[in-house]
Amino acid sequence: MFKALVVEKNEEGKTSAAVQELSEDRLPEGEVMVAVDYSTVNYKDGLCIGPGGGLVRNYPHVPGIDFAGTVEASDDPRYNAGDKVVLTGWRVGEAHWGGYAQKARVKADWLVPLPDGLDARQAMAVGTAGFTAMLAVMALEDHGIKDGPVLVTGAAGGVGSVATAILANLGYEVAAVTGRPETADYMKSLGATQIVAREELNETTKRPLEAEMWGGCVDAVGGEMLARVLGQMKYGASVSAVGLAGGAGLPATVIPFLLRGVNLLGIDSVMQPYDNRVRAWARIAKDLPMDKLEAMIQPATLSDLPELGRGILKGQVKGRVVVDVNG
Ligand code: NDP
Repeated sequence: MFKALVVEKNEEGKTSAAVQELSEDRLPEGEVMVAVDYSTVNYKDGLCIGPGGGLVRNYPHVPGIDFAGTVEASDDPRYNAGDKVVLTGWRVGEAHWGGYAQKARVKADWLVPLPDGLDARQAMAVGTAGFTAMLAVMALEDHGIKDGPVLVTGAAGGVGSVATAILANLGYEVAAVTGRPETADYMKSLGATQIVAREELNETTKRPLEAEMWGGCVDAVGGEMLARVLGQMKYGASVSAVGLAGGAGLPATVIPFLLRGVNLLGIDSVMQPYDNRVRAWARIAKDLPMDKLEAMIQPATLSDLPELGRGILKGQVKGRVVVDVNG
């Protein structure tokens, strides 16, 4: 038997989430059985735990879009009992039972070995949000980061915190956009040199181009803020568009693309091929200072998840929640 957070849907279509004891034969099919050590809370998890079930495709369901743990048994020659592994993406926690459990059974293709230099807890302090932040930074590097500060929006959140720490550690000047002025000291401790108030970028302007300010941008917010930022990018600079915490619409014009050669780069962490995942995790182990990662961690257990799920949807979570599923 093992413990898991199970989301159920009743006959009226109402969902509820509670910790339950389950037997292993309830787990979905997969080649690898993993004893999960840690999982995390991402924005998508908030949707899946919350009312209506968000992105959940089947009930009852165990959410948790990422986890790190130890292989218990494997029918795939790439993995052996005792191997340390990490999983992000592949609709785990949405269509396939995920990491909010002490056990998970998954396809071998979805796993990557834990990189040297990271333990399971640190890997989940990074989690999907941090993995995505690394992909966003790598995409900016591929297209060339211009002189001037790199802007990070939604900076006190999961993606934003990790992106700030990585960029600062790589030697870039980081301007962190936050709607929570009380997080300024935290953002500076991660390496931000400039704090930009969210309201400054939420004010709409009719001007499609403004002064050139940013050498690159990791954007976790989307919506009006992204539209505004596009008009402030330096000539030829790139924006890695990661999220939509501030809205899915994009009320922008084509002018920044036509007159400033701005690149808008879409970042998808879900379907990343194996080699890219290994490359990104190796970069995380190398380029993310572990003391800064520690400063982002908010510890939690399975029973804390319903409340944390509500909190992340309201933009109230700071940094990264690390869920000790055995705690
Ligand atoms: P968090 O909730 O941890 O962070 C989001 C941050 O955005 C908040 O902390 C807040 O930062 C800011 N924010 C929230 N609401 C608004 C608003 N209405 N207007 C402006 N800013 C707002 O979430 P994550 O960092 O985990 O994820 C961020 C986004 O990235 C989500 O949309 C998520 O779905 C997406 N994502 C996408 C992935 C991909 O593969 N493309 C993978 C992982 C996440 P502050 O308080 O500092 O202003």
